[in-house]
Order: sequence, then C-alpha cells, then structure tokens
Amino acid sequence: MTSPHIENPYLLLTPGPLSTTRSVKEVMLRDWCTWDDDYNQGVVQVIRRTLVGLATRAKGYTSVLMQGSGTFAVEALVGTAIARDDKLLVLANGAYGRRVARIAQVLAIDHAVIDSGERDPPDPNQVDKALAEDPAITHVAMVHGETSTGMLNPIATVGEVVRRRGRIFIVDAMSTFGGIPFDLDELGIDFLVSSANKCIQGVPGFGFVLARQHTLAACEGRARSLSLDLFDQWRAMEEEAGKWRFTSPTHTVRAFAQALVELEEEGGVVKRGERYRENHRVLVDGMERLGFRCFLSEAHRSPIITTFHDPDTSTYVFTRFYADLKRKGFVIYPGKVTGANTFRIGTIGHVYPNDIRSLIAAIEDSISW
Ligand SMILES: *Cc1c(COP(=O)(O)O)cnc(C)c1O
Repeated sequence: MTSPHIENPYLLLTPGPLSTTRSVKEVMLRDWCTWDDDYNQGVVQVIRRTLVGLATRAKGYTSVLMQGSGTFAVEALVGTAIARDDKLLVLANGAYGRRVARIAQVLAIDHAVIDSGERDPPDPNQVDKALAEDPAITHVAMVHGETSTGMLNPIATVGEVVRRRGRIFIVDAMSTFGGIPFDLDELGIDFLVSSANKCIQGVPGFGFVLARQHTLAACEGRARSLSLDLFDQWRAMEEEAGKWRFTSPTHTVRAFAQALVELEEEGGVVKRGERYRENHRVLVDGMERLGFRCFLSEAHRSPIITTFHDPDTSTYVFTRFYADLKRKGFVIYPGKVTGANTFRIGTIGHVYPNDIRSLIAAIEDSISW
C-alpha cells in the first residue's frame, strides 16, 4: 500500500473530504457522456446495485444518487419523504442532528426535536414516550455518527422503538456508511443517507439515499424543490437505466465506482471497519499517553472521528498546533462542540495505523508548550 504522503503534501485526518488512493483519483482522467450506456449502465447502475448490496441482505431496497454535498442529499430526503400533513421527530445531539431540524424548519415541515445534549445519546424510552404521546408524528430522524462530536448513536435500540410504533425511520449515516457494518432491514431503517466522500473513500460531489422501495415509491409529488426531488431523481434512474435528471458529476461518480471496488478488495465493510477501529485505538492510546483527554466517554465514541479537549496550558493555540502538524504532514480538524474548547482528529479514509503512529510522534514533538 503506497503512503498517501507520496501523492499529497499532507494526510487529511478529517471527516471528509478525506485522503483517497491514487487509483481513485486516476480514474477521473477521462471524460464521460451522460447519455451513453458506458456511463449509465456501466457506472451508475453498478454503483446503485452495489450500494444496495452493502446496505442489506434483504430484498425490497433501492438506491438513488443526488448531486451536491451530503447536506443536499439530506435536504432532498427530508423534503421528499415527508408529506404535507406529516410530522417529523428529530433526535439531535450535535450540529448534524440540529441541521436536520433546521432543514425541516426551512421547508416548513411540522417537526419536534428531542435534544439529548452533545455528551449523551438519545434515550429510546424517551422516544417511545414521545411517539406514544404524539400520534401526529409519522417520521423519526437521527444521525448515526454525529461527526461534530464523534458520538456513535444507538440506531438499533431507537430503530426498534420506531418500528414497534409503526413510524418511518430516517438515518443520517453520512459518516458511518461503509465504515461500520450494519444491515438496514435488520435495524428497521426506511431511509438512509450518506455521501461519496466519507467511508466509501470517494471524492466529493454527490450524496446517495438507500430506501425501502415501496416507501420511496409513495413519495411522488411531495418534494418542496425541483432539483432536490428525490422521488423524481429515483424514477429517472429506474426508468432510464441510471440516468440523472440534470448534469451529473461524472468524474466523481467514476471515482466512486473505483472506490467501491477498492472497498471490496479490502475485504468489505467489516475489514474496513476493523482498520478504522484500529486507527482510533492507536490514536486514543497515543493521545492519552501524551496527556490529552477525550471529550466523550469511551462507550459513546466512534472509530470515525475523535474530539479531544484542548490541553490545559495557556501557551496552546489551535492555529499554531494545526500549522505545525500540517508542516509535518498531517491535517487535523477544529472542534465543533459548544461550551468546551476542543479539536478533532479523523481516522477514516486511506489512513492506516502506522500513519496514526507517525501522527502521535509528530504531536509529541509539537507539544513543547
Ligand atoms: C459530512 C456529514 C454531513 C454532510 O455534510 P456536507 O458538508 O454537506 O457534505 C451530514 N451529516 C453528517 C453526520 C456528516 O458527517
């Protein structure tokens, strides 16, 4: 495996866009016609089928791709899945959960929010109670990996409640899909949304939704936007064999197809997940040895990204720490929690435990404050 350092001046230890392989970047060196079968059948349809295969072993699921960053796909999903007199319950515990609520607000979708705070996961019993008390709620949305803190939220226990209560379950698994194994059907997930530049290790440019086919098929005419009409996009892809309604990010899409091949070559989601877990373990062990403290308790952390408290020293300045590590070949991420001074280090992408060991050595060398 070649070191990403050969291709890039520094490794991206961020939640995406992230470090990708040279081979993913190389397949972008040709142009594609969006009306041609080479692209629609040979690339788009293969991606759509492969995504469904990664998502579940069950029948009855479909996928749809949508131009834009991940948030565009979230907005397309929320705006298309929820009918005029439906109501959405959002479980939030960070910036991405709050963003789902904000989308509902902007689209004038009736919604309620349960915010469990940035250090705690949502409580399934509270969700159960909310659903029992408010029969108007038709959909429940939550984030799997809350990338703003690194929290891994309990989609299995919440999903069990949502299914038992007969509601539609929407999961923003943007930062976990392809990096943490789970089965949509087993967890009762009706809609899942993710994007090209996270754990599949593609480059940015589009998002995708995995959906229970009959649930998506019922969404015709609901969208609050023309370009972000997920149903219409899906119908075009179904009826015209992989055709996007409007210009698709062809090079990004081709790179994503290569990234899916490389995921398979690595041994699938299980193996990739093991590598990310090992990256995370090496990171936390090394950082704790250097005296850094994690923001979240161990039980809530994900292998995707980890939030650390700033060191307790008056001479520490994030921008200086950042610039110093960047010079040494590592780009880290600023913090995104409220009420605590933190920074984040991502452990996904074309990044290996030895890269994390090198990072720890670089940090040890940097902290002479
Ligand atoms: C990355 C991410 C998104 C989408 O962010 P974009 O900047 O729009 O790509 C949404 N939710 C979560 C949890 C994410 O990690």
